[in-house]
Order: sequence, then C-alpha cells, then structure tokens
Amino acid sequence: RSSAEKFEFQAEVSRLMDIIINSLYSNKDIFLRELISNASDALDKIRFLALTDKEVLGEGDTAKLEIQIKLDKEKKILSIRDRGIGMTKEDLIKNLGTIAKSGTSAFVEKMQTGGDLNLIGQFGVGFYSVYLVADYVEVISKHNDDKQHVWESKADGSFAISEDTWNEPLGRGTEIRLHLRDEAKEYVEEDKLKDLVKKYSEFINFPIYLWATKEVDVEVPADEDESSESSEEEESSPESTEEEETEDSEEKKPKTKTIKETTTEWELLNDVKAIWLRSPKEVTEEEYTKFYHSLAKDFGDDKPLSWSHFTAEGDVEFKALLFVPPKAPHDLYESYYNSNKSNLKLYVRRVFISDEFDELLPKYLSFLKGLVDSDTLPLNVSREMLQQHSSLKTIKKKLIRKALDMIRKLAEEDPDEYSNKDKTDEEKSAMEEKKGQYAKFWNEFGKSVKLGIIEDATNRNRLAKLLRFESTKSEGKLVSLDEYISRMKSGQKDIFYITGSSKEQLEKSPFLERLTKKNYEVIFFTDPVDEYLMQYLMDYEDKKFQNVSKEGLKLGKDSKLKDLKESFKELTDWWKKALDTENVDSVKISNRLSDTPCVVVTSKYGWSANMEKIMQSQTL
Ligand code: ADP
Ligand code: MG
Repeated sequence: RSSAEKFEFQAEVSRLMDIIINSLYSNKDIFLRELISNASDALDKIRFLALTDKEVLGEGDTAKLEIQIKLDKEKKILSIRDRGIGMTKEDLIKNLGTIAKSGTSAFVEKMQTGGDLNLIGQFGVGFYSVYLVADYVEVISKHNDDKQHVWESKADGSFAISEDTWNEPLGRGTEIRLHLRDEAKEYVEEDKLKDLVKKYSEFINFPIYLWATKEVDVEVPADEDESSESSEEEESSPESTEEEETEDSEEKKPKTKTIKETTTEWELLNDVKAIWLRSPKEVTEEEYTKFYHSLAKDFGDDKPLSWSHFTAEGDVEFKALLFVPPKAPHDLYESYYNSNKSNLKLYVRRVFISDEFDELLPKYLSFLKGLVDSDTLPLNVSREMLQQHSSLKTIKKKLIRKALDMIRKLAEEDPDEYSNKDKTDEEKSAMEEKKGQYAKFWNEFGKSVKLGIIEDATNRNRLAKLLRFESTKSEGKLVSLDEYISRMKSGQKDIFYITGSSKEQLEKSPFLERLTKKNYEVIFFTDPVDEYLMQYLMDYEDKKFQNVSKEGLKLGKDSKLKDLKESFKELTDWWKKALDTENVDSVKISNRLSDTPCVVVTSKYGWSANMEKIMQSQTL
C-alpha cells in the first residue's frame, strides 16, 4: 500500500524475531495463549477505565468484553479479536517493534544458551511468538483516541503502518490476523484450537468464543417420494382396524424428517467463573496447578511448591490465592532493591485493578505469585487513591501471616524435616509425595527468608523458624534453629555460629578446634547476606547468638583461666604494646583454642573478618 509508513524493528527485537522464526523444534502452540493473554490484558484495561467513566465502553457490541477467534480455512488465516483498549498509531509503533522491552535482551540471551521458548511471556515479549506459526501478521487496532490503523509485518526486519480504510470498523479493540505458514496448517482446525484454549487459557476471565461449525438436527418437510410411498402403504394396509387407526393419526401430522446440517455459530470455550471465588474444597490440585501456570506465565511441567486459598473476613473482606513457585525467576534478587514489583494481582469485586501494587506484600515476599480480590476497597477511585486506602494495611498484614503459615506448612509436610522426626514410618510414607520440598524451597527462596528477617521486625521470630543452614553436625542436611536448640549441650547458653565464604574453608578454622573437640555444634553461615542477617537476628527462643570468631565466647566455667591470665599478664601487656594500638584493642588469654597458639578475634560490635572481605568486594 502506497500510503503505508515503514519502520525498522529495534535491533534487539529483530534478533528476537529471527530466533523465533528459526526455532523449528519448539512448541508452537504457545502463540495462542500469548495472544489471548494480551487480549485479556487489553480488556482488563478498558474495564478499569470504565470504572470511573462508563462512556469509554461505547455502545452495542463494542461494549461487550469478550475475545473472538475466527478461522478462514481456505486462506489459512487465523484471527483473534478483542474489544479491549486497543492501540493508537503511536502505541502500535512503540509496543510492537521500535522500543525493546527490558526483558528482550535477557530473553535473547537465554534463548541463545538453549533456553525454553515457553517462558517468553515472562519476559514481556509474548506477542512475537506469532512468528512461530505465521509468516505474515496484520494487527488491526482501534483505540478510543485515534482512528483505526493496521500494523503489518513479514518479519523481514521492518513493519508498516497505515490508516485503515478497507477493513470492517472494529468499534474498539484489536484484531490480530495470522497468515499461517504451510507447516502450521493445523491451527485452522477447530478441534486443535479448542484443545489449546482448554489447555492454556481456561482461566482467562473473559469469555473466549470460537466461530465454530456445528452439526445440527433440522426438521424439514419430507419429500414427495416418501409421501407417495407411505400412501401406497396405506392402500395396501391389512384390514385390521387397530392398525388402520394408528395410520390415520399419523397421517394427520405434517410430514417431516430430520436431517443433519452444518451451521456456524459462536461457541464459548471457557468457563468464566473465577477460580478464587470457588470453595477451596471444590477446586482440584490440577486446577490450581493450571491456574498457577497461566497466572505466572510459567508453563513448565512443574507444580507450584505450595498454595494457600482463603477468605478473610471481618473489617476488611477479601479472597486470596497465593502460590510458592517451583523456581525463582531469573532476576529475583537482581532487581530486588530497585524494583517495587510485587507479583500479586489486585482485583476489586472481580475487576482487575493492578499488578503493580507494592503495598500488598513486602519486598522479601515478592517471589510469591497470586491474587487478592477485595470487596471492601472502593471501585470508583484512581489507583493512586486506592494505594493509600487504609484497608490495604490490614490486607497486607493478613497476607504476610498466611504466606508465612504456608511456608511453615511446607516444612511440616516434608518427611525430611526435623519437625517430623517423631512421626511414625507409616505417617512418613503418607507424606512421601512432599519429600524434599522444603529443601527445594530453601534453595530457591532461602535468601528471601533472610531478607525478611532483616526487614520485618514484627515477623522476625516466625521467619527465623523457617531458617535453614549447615553446621558442624549437619552431615549434608539442612538444620533448623529448633533442631540446633534441641541438641544443645547442658549448660550451653548461646547459639554458636561462624561466618565465611564456604563450609570447606570454615571447617578448617582454628576457631572451631576447641568447640568441636568439646562437642558443641556450630552453625556455618556462608552467604554474604548472612553477615547482615546476624546483625538483626540477636536471639531466638531466649538464646543469644554468639559468633565464635568474636569476643565474648564463653565455654562454661574454667577455673584455671584466671590463674593463667595472671601468670601471662606480662606477655600480653608486652604484646599489646608491640602491636599497633590502632589495629588491636586488646591481647587476651582465652580457652577458645586447643592446637593453634593464637588467633585474631573481632570485638563484639566490630566487623568480622568475613564482613571486611564482603565490604571490600561489595558482593551484595
Ligand atoms: P506483554 O503482554 O508482556 O506486555 P507482549 O509482547 O505480549 O508483552 O505485548 C506487547 C505490548 O503490545 C503489550 O504490552 C501491549 O501494550 C500491546 N498489545 C499487544 N496485544 C494487544 C492487544 N490485543 N490490545 C492492546 N494492546 C496490545
Ligand atoms: Mg503478552
């Protein structure tokens, strides 16, 4: 078209498209759920705007918040249409090609090292998956603030945009037309599309319709031949009066027959009742898993590690569904300090409001996925005003409590966990399915628990219960503080720990010599964050924490120590003088060593040697 304006794809987007076009062996099915998810997002947006301004919805069909799928078998075109917010010309240019999203290069990188295309939605570039199945794509869109435009591209590095003067007016919304490649013919089969929607898009909160052919029974007048036949029969009928009577009554009815005919009509493919409104008793494990997959755009084979589905009552009423994902996202801690993205979706009375409400969960729980649907929050106010609503504090408090309960239960159901040591073998084998799940949780999200201890003073003790570590007695397993305390030696008052860069390095530390000889258990803290953690975690169940490389280590009473201190006083005084007083506070006789003659100890409130190292390398 001569009036079309041409644009180049941004370089990173172009690379992404090349990868998609050439990924011959990956699962092509995913394009449909990405398009449906975009349609659903667009519908959420217009519905949200309509809360404060009903006019935006328009009238008649335009106001219908639904998704329609249509096929043209002959031309091999598949179209997906929504009546969502639509895109202006400028939106089309920006969203579909000229501005690369933050996830684009991360995704390109992932794909080049054998990543899974399935995760495309998580990186915010799902749209481009259309080129798995199509070699030419048209996006027709009408936004309330602009005329209808067409975006089109053959994925050859450029796209074109024209004002749309030839297609049927959409009213509002977007229609994506995929001109399917020869190898992708299967996507003009109705059954295939029905299967895909069932599999991946079952929990979309707007009706999804397919323009589907259907065989129907139609009553038509019976034709001449047949009626003459029956009249023949009538003539030759036997004399029996009974039979004559029945034939008579039949004859009075109009003569019809039933034939099969194919028609086309909109067929609803999904059940729009939100899963979180159903009673938890009625929702199956499989449904929760599928719902998690679509919510998290995480379409791997893994089940979520755990979930919690509950209704909160009282002053603030809401329903919530929280999930612990099976894996941490690629950038969980990378973006920890500069992003405020929580992964909870907020609904008010079934209307999606936002998924960027950082007031719902504290940062350290941002690894959870899920949603909150509140009946108490007002519907007709702006996001900003909602963000300040007093109910949010109550919601947040309850969500944290439920989330921590859910994680605690994860441990309680795991036969590997210390808390289950008193369970019988039978009880344990009933728990077999959950074996090892807490260790899995800990590997993926342990750092979040530690950040929680640092940041959330109110829940510090609850979080400390979730803490796991290795120790001088752990033998490769994870130990909890409760387990540690249960085997403390009689007379031992403090919980002993040591920090360093690895367990192997710490095992050789002279600080442990005497402690291990005397059979004390010492915790190994080897994550850089542990140094910070231990500045906040002062005690647990009335026991104080003692860093064994710091001043103040007490290993029970030692009557000889006082005498030794006296007799070596001259030496320690000389030594203190000989050393630079800037660097050394004091020189002391102690009973902490057994083979090593002397050791440098950190003062009680000073940085440990490990902390000095961390600060120098800025690992956190
Ligand atoms: P994401 O959905 O994660 O933002 P996509 O690559 O799927 O990433 O889509 C890119 C953008 O294109 C969307 O953010 C949205 O702005 C726009 N978009 C895509 N499909 C539609 C649609 N059906 N209606 C309105 N806007 C859309
Ligand atoms: Mg998308």
